[in-house]
Amino acid sequence: MSTSFPTGIHLFLTYKCSMECDHCFVYASPRAKGTFTLDQIKAVLDELVKIGTIEWVYFEGGEPFLFYSLMLEGIRLAHKMGFKTGIVTNAYWATSGEAAERWLSPLCDLGLADLSISDDRLHYGEERDPPAKIALAAAEKLGMPVGSICIERPEIDTEKTDRKGEPVMGGGALLKGRAVEKLMDGLPGRNYDEFTECTGEKLRNPGRVHIDPYGFVHLCQGLVIGNMFEIPLSTLIMNYDAESHPICGPLLKGGPALLAEKYGVKHDEKYVSACHLCYTVRRSLLDKFPEYLAPRQVYGLD
Ligand code: SF4
Repeated sequence: MSTSFPTGIHLFLTYKCSMECDHCFVYASPRAKGTFTLDQIKAVLDELVKIGTIEWVYFEGGEPFLFYSLMLEGIRLAHKMGFKTGIVTNAYWATSGEAAERWLSPLCDLGLADLSISDDRLHYGEERDPPAKIALAAAEKLGMPVGSICIERPEIDTEKTDRKGEPVMGGGALLKGRAVEKLMDGLPGRNYDEFTECTGEKLRNPGRVHIDPYGFVHLCQGLVIGNMFEIPLSTLIMNYDAESHPICGPLLKGGPALLAEKYGVKHDEKYVSACHLCYTVRRSLLDKFPEYLAPRQVYGLD
C-alpha cells in the first residue's frame, strides 16, 4: 500500500487540442478523441472526498478551453466541495487583450487559484506577440494567480555533465509520447543499461495523478494504476502498491533497463534518456498489460 496519498488530481478534461505539438506526451491534436462528461467529473469529485488528502484539482488536456462551459462547471463544483483549482492552457483563445479578459473573468470570479500558460517556442515558434503573452497580461490585469510553463526542444546542455562526465540534456521536453517521433534528430544516445532509474515521477508515493476521459488513472502518461470506471478511484488510490505493480515494480528496482530485461523486450543498444527507453519498452508491452498501459492513443496508436 502507498504510504502517502496524492494531494493533487489533474483531469485530462479532453485529449482534443487546438494544436498538435511535437513534444506532446499524450498525442493531443484537433482530431484526438476522448472528452469528460459532466457526470464523469462529478463522479471523480465525489471520489476525491473519500480519498481525503486531495487539495488541488487541475483541468488540463489537450486544451481544456475547447470545452469551456464544461470546464467552468467542473471548476464551480470543485470549489463548492472545497478544492483549490487550476488550469493548464495554451491560451489559443487569447486573440486580443479584450477577448482574453472576457474568457478569464468568469474564472476569476470563481476564485481560480492557478492559471498555468504554455508560453514557449514549441507552442508558438518565433511569434512576436503570441496568445500566451496576451493571456498572461490579461490575467495579471485581472489580478489572477498566473504563471507560464516554458518547455524547449531537448538539446545537449554543454554547461552541464552528469556523474560519468557525459553531457546532460537540457530544454525540458521529455522524450515520451509524440516527442519520440519528432524531437530525436541529432540527440546523442547512451547504452541502454545505464538507464537504471526513473527520475521523472515519484512512482512509490505520487504527489499527483492524472485521470483521463476513459477513466484511466495515470502515474506517468500511459502508465496507469487502473480504471476508475471499473474500480472506484478511492479504492484504486488506497490499494496502490508500487512494488507489486507489474510496470512500476521493475522501474523502481532497476529503471527502464530492468523493465526491458524482465519482460524480454527487444531493444536497441542506445537511447537518449530514461524516458525514451521506458516509453519505447512500455509501447512494446501494451498487449501484455492492457490494464496498466493505456490508452493506446497516448502511444500514438488508435
Ligand atoms: S522513466 Fe518512465 S515512468 Fe519515469 S518519468 Fe520517464 S517515462 Fe515516466
